[in-house]
Amino acid sequence: MIPGDTGLLLRLQTEVLEAVACGEPLVAVADLLCRRAEELAPGIVCSILTVDSQGLLHPLAAPSLPLAYSSAIDGVPMGPQAGSCGTAAFRNEPVIVTDIGRDPLWDDYRALAEPLGLRACWSSPIRDRDGRVVATFAFYYRTRRGPNDMERRIVQTCLHLCAIAIDHEQVRQRNHRLAYFDTLTGLPNRGHFNEMLGRSIGMDEPFGLLLADIDHLKLINDTLGHVFGDMLIRTVAERIADCHPSLTACRLGGDEFAVLVADCHDDAALQDAATRMIAAVRGLIQVGDQTIDPHITIGGALFGPDGTDGASLSQNADFALYHAKETRRGGYVRFVPGLRTTMLERANMVRSVDQAMTEKRMVAHYQPIVRLDTAEIVGLEALARMRMLDGRIAAAGEFHAAMADPRIAWQLTGQMLTQIASDIRHWLDLGIAFQHVGVNVTTGDFQRGDLETRIVETFERAGVPLEHIVLEVNESVYVGGNDQMVPRAVSALRQRGLLVALDDFGTGFASLTHLLSFPVDIIKIDRSFVSRLGSDGASDVVVGSIIDIARKLDMKLVAEGIETPQQARILAELGCTMGQGYLYARPGSVEDTTHLLDLFAQKRDADTDERRTA
Ligand code: GH3
Ligand code: MG
Repeated sequence: MIPGDTGLLLRLQTEVLEAVACGEPLVAVADLLCRRAEELAPGIVCSILTVDSQGLLHPLAAPSLPLAYSSAIDGVPMGPQAGSCGTAAFRNEPVIVTDIGRDPLWDDYRALAEPLGLRACWSSPIRDRDGRVVATFAFYYRTRRGPNDMERRIVQTCLHLCAIAIDHEQVRQRNHRLAYFDTLTGLPNRGHFNEMLGRSIGMDEPFGLLLADIDHLKLINDTLGHVFGDMLIRTVAERIADCHPSLTACRLGGDEFAVLVADCHDDAALQDAATRMIAAVRGLIQVGDQTIDPHITIGGALFGPDGTDGASLSQNADFALYHAKETRRGGYVRFVPGLRTTMLERANMVRSVDQAMTEKRMVAHYQPIVRLDTAEIVGLEALARMRMLDGRIAAAGEFHAAMADPRIAWQLTGQMLTQIASDIRHWLDLGIAFQHVGVNVTTGDFQRGDLETRIVETFERAGVPLEHIVLEVNESVYVGGNDQMVPRAVSALRQRGLLVALDDFGTGFASLTHLLSFPVDIIKIDRSFVSRLGSDGASDVVVGSIIDIARKLDMKLVAEGIETPQQARILAELGCTMGQGYLYARPGSVEDTTHLLDLFAQKRDADTDERRTA
């Protein structure tokens, strides 16, 4: 048995430590500590205040003081003359005031303490592991006096226990932060988001879910470095989080954010929130002499119509985001049911093209380009075809959607370039006369910035001069891309002797004025104009003007999709000299094309150089 006071102190210690170990909240532990200390030191009033990082005091436990007293000192700053506790925190040492009625430290607080019969106060600071004052522990006396030995021993034990309890609380809070919040941005993390989403669904109130992804972060990381990339993520996070009180932003990981939109009843409200976010994120970020204008793309889904459980709502918002990245980069797309089917079909298509590439079932077919006056073949357009497992040849339309995946497009172009180079070499070896082969390239091919090297290396390896190649660039790729990336690559290739054709002219963004700023060698008039020739006067006028301007700019013209002799005749009358279409030949295998070239290729020795006929 441990006699007397020491035994009592030990009991207090055990009881408080048990409460800490059991995970009791800090407030409850502090309250227990005060009560037990007051039992050991009769007549004493005990109080514990916390000190926040700004040096403001907040009541934690004071079971024997009226609530009004505690409330009155809540938020008071520590200072050189701030009662016993505020001064002890400020000085980082114990402060004993034996007469509150006369001590100047209490001048501002005397009126609070005296009516309660508090005459003296001894307060001691409690420090954390780093030595920062995080709380104060105080004994108030009802007589004008200082502490006795027993009280000193009690306080010493209590300070120790209090420090342990506060440290435990800090660790608990830190763990909670790590488990629930993202360290880079301070936003709730994916786990936390899932809980919030579950709660929102449980409340069965209208809300929306927006998924936002930063555009081109990889490029920023690669060109400006990860520190800049991190800074971009942090800035975007702040801007989204501060955007509007009804929005709760979380970082799901990488550069993706989820935003819960409270009180969101309909499509218009979701769109408003997305528009607000897109606007909030904009604005130059400056680091040193580098600047960047951040953009995000957003997909959205509405609780109820677009999903009634967390998994389907998130997945549908994800579908919308994916679709937005492809069709409306920097903008917003709301989920619609058809999107799911489209995306799944495309995913299947990507898989089958991937498999076909591995099994070397992607093959180059060729469609002749002919002189309209003599029907001689002056060139070819190479077209990718997929040989199906049953031997059927699938046209581009059947797997076109897979090309939206930049990786697939890039790989397919690689395989096509190799086949085309080998086929051209074959024709050259046979002594077949032909001028050039058109090769289609997509946005995905430009994105990696290595198109020029790939083309040059592939054709050099096969021993094919570059003048036999025409790069066919769809006009939306040409003028819709980011910055000057495509025009710059195109002009580098032209300098190497390749010709460049602007494909599908008239269907996308390109206007005649673009031709002045981004010169090309050949314009291919889209089949939609050709098919209407003769049946509506407007098409004749449009095509006539295109031909006229192209001639003045010294560009050649090829009409696509000629199916009738009447279309060919009108085109010739309008001044177009070359064309391709079913009227002349469908795309065919390399064997069929060799045969056709044998029969109909333009004779080089004749005075019919295609460059002059154009
Ligand atoms: P997109 O425009 O299509 O969104 O492409 P993106 O370049 O932004 O790339 P994507 O969204 O597909 O992938 C996000 C990239 O962000 C992948 C990774 O390189 C980078 N990233 C992920 N987490 C971090 C991070 O914590 N810091 C930095 N600096 N980069 C990150
Ligand atoms: Mg991104």
